[in-house]
Amino acid sequence: MRCTIHSARELEPTKTKYGTRYSCPVGGCTVVQWDGSTSTPADFATRQARIEAHSWFDALWQSGIFSRKRAYKKLAAHLDLPARKTHIGHFNKDQCHRTIDFCRALTESRKELNIDEEE
Ligand SMILES: [Zn+2]
Repeated sequence: MRCTIHSARELEPTKTKYGTRYSCPVGGCTVVQWDGSTSTPADFATRQARIEAHSWFDALWQSGIFSRKRAYKKLAAHLDLPARKTHIGHFNKDQCHRTIDFCRALTESRKELNIDEEE
């Protein structure tokens, strides 16, 4: 795996009690990936944005407005992504912010937006 910022640098593994953590060797770079995780390498700001997007998304379907599956379908349509690529752990910062805006709007309005169901 290579760093998302320093594309020439390979992430270097470090064993931790949580598993192997791969991090960029460039000083000050915050890009990290965990072994066996469903996430792609990301810098600190992106990882924070993913955490925030996930908590908004979980709140959306846990509120009962949609099933989890339906919420994923709606998010995929909103982001114009195929369902199989709609994994918050793979999103970039922009996609995370769009996810947060989408979930916030739906959660606040508590009703379905008029989104095309086609995939
Ligand atoms: Zn880096």
